[in-house]
Amino acid sequence: MDLATVVPHFPRPGETLQGNRFLVAPGGKGGNQAIAAARLGANVALIACVGNDEFGPRLLASLQAEGIDCSGVVTSEHAASGIAMVVVDHTGNNSIVTVQGSNGDLTPQQVARHVDSLATARMIVCDLTVPVATVESVLSTARQSGIPVLLNASPVQSPEPARLLPQIRYLVVNEVEAATLSARPVDSIDDAKAVASALHDAGATHVLVTLGARGVVAHFETDHGAQVAFFPASPVTAVDTTGAGDTFAGAFATAIVGGASGPRAIAFAQAAAATCVTRAGAAPSIPYLHEIGIDFRSN
Ligand code: ADP
Repeated sequence: MDLATVVPHFPRPGETLQGNRFLVAPGGKGGNQAIAAARLGANVALIACVGNDEFGPRLLASLQAEGIDCSGVVTSEHAASGIAMVVVDHTGNNSIVTVQGSNGDLTPQQVARHVDSLATARMIVCDLTVPVATVESVLSTARQSGIPVLLNASPVQSPEPARLLPQIRYLVVNEVEAATLSARPVDSIDDAKAVASALHDAGATHVLVTLGARGVVAHFETDHGAQVAFFPASPVTAVDTTGAGDTFAGAFATAIVGGASGPRAIAFAQAAAATCVTRAGAAPSIPYLHEIGIDFRSN
């Protein structure tokens, strides 16, 4: 669940600030990415764990209302729901503290109960808000069934999850995550290109490094060899960038599953993410297909 407020500037240590709005909205990376894909036209099933607190039923209901198959969503016996405390400044930038909560209770055993539904997927989208052992169990099912995996390697605190990359078809990371995962700085577009190629060399087939308002650097493997390119973002006035990365990942996956080329899928996903940043909140700001002036099906 996202607990968000808008402040004149980010608080300094010891400072008490008055926020001028307070928003409680369903959130979480997996949920947001599922909502993005569903609103943009994909058939989506979610495997996740909500908390045994008052937010749990609210999160579940909000996902069901999007038409997402939630038969794989369980309720933790012990933990409260995962929380993101979001502070947005006057420029639309955010600062977020997350609490893993019930996300940490999603076990490989729970995933194993949904192997049949996983095995029929056209793409599996994972993030690192759940235990790495659980992600590994999903990767193993994906490998056995030949299903491509998109990993949004977030949150990431060390280069350790880079060992998963040989099993990843599409790696999506923002610049901070790219730097952490590769243990190399990302201060420029050229740095992002070098890191995208390094993460490809570490095993991911295609690598997308999102650079906020600047756009995306991608390393694509093609029949004609590697293509490393920068794709500028759609210019918009940002109100709140929360959820931009999740919208991008869900939209990109939807476009690829729909048959789009990599560059076309990036254009579609950037258009969706740009719309998201013009509105407040994460899940509430994720656009529907008709709100995006670009169709991923025309390559
Ligand atoms: P995350 O939310 O994971 O940190 P980014 O901030 O890199 O991800 O944003 C993901 C994508 O969203 C960007 O690559 C871009 O396409 C779009 N985006 C983010 N911020 C803006 C912005 N201010 N203006 C236009 N597009 C944006």
